[in-house]
Amino acid sequence: MPDQSPTQPGPNPSASSIPLGPVAPVRASGRQVNAKPVGPKPVGANAVGGRGVGGPGAAGRDRERTLAYPGPVARLIDDLARLPGIGRRAAERLALHLLKAPREVGESLAAAIQQVKSQVGNCRVCSSLTEHDVCGICVSMKRDAGVVLVVEQPRDLLALEAAGMYAGVYHVLLGNLSPMDGIGPDALTVEDLVARVRDAGANARSEPVREVILGLNPTMEGDGTALYLAGRLREVAPGLKVSRLARGLPTGSSLEVVSKAVLADAVSGRRSMD
Ligand SMILES: [Zn+2]
Repeated sequence: MPDQSPTQPGPNPSASSIPLGPVAPVRASGRQVNAKPVGPKPVGANAVGGRGVGGPGAAGRDRERTLAYPGPVARLIDDLARLPGIGRRAAERLALHLLKAPREVGESLAAAIQQVKSQVGNCRVCSSLTEHDVCGICVSMKRDAGVVLVVEQPRDLLALEAAGMYAGVYHVLLGNLSPMDGIGPDALTVEDLVARVRDAGANARSEPVREVILGLNPTMEGDGTALYLAGRLREVAPGLKVSRLARGLPTGSSLEVVSKAVLADAVSGRRSMD
């Protein structure tokens, strides 16, 4: 719905800027327009109004500036600012860029977003991204479907594919365990992996899994997740081979510059020269 009352930019606009309402009336337009704007939103005012009065910081000033934009622009800024890695200032810059750019640029972006949301989903077997029910890797006859490499995200799969050294199939967890953030096994595709190991029929080509390679990132969460998975897989398939990707010295670096943890990994993961 378009903004019907340009004299009251604060409390009126679309739903996306409602939480910002109380800040503007108090500091900027409230006094000039009338005393009412704070009234219609008692919940919001109670929740954040005090902070606005107390002494707004940079964030408050940014919000105030956003509110000065016409409703649709403010909404675009709000939506962009919700994306990971995009702060309020960057969101504003992007929105203004789109506003200034030829119409086709914005339309192409909008169409791309719509297409991604409507046409791309997760593979029914490995949870990688695909435009089909099952992804190309899962159904490929050129891949060894008996070896499953577990990664955290689709981008990890792409990195491994770009290296071109792996000929098995994958399983994408879509994250890693993080008890601090409340992310348990249920939030990931752990049970799908267990099903694949337990029942060959759960795999795209109904081939039994002989080995699971844990390719999680060498972070605290990644290590914790790998440990959990190894235990869980051993539980359901005692004979299954479970390995993890090697880690150690990065090619091209020297011993003196790598961290102690990397050196320790490199020593314990050493390989025979033959
Ligand atoms: Zn797949």
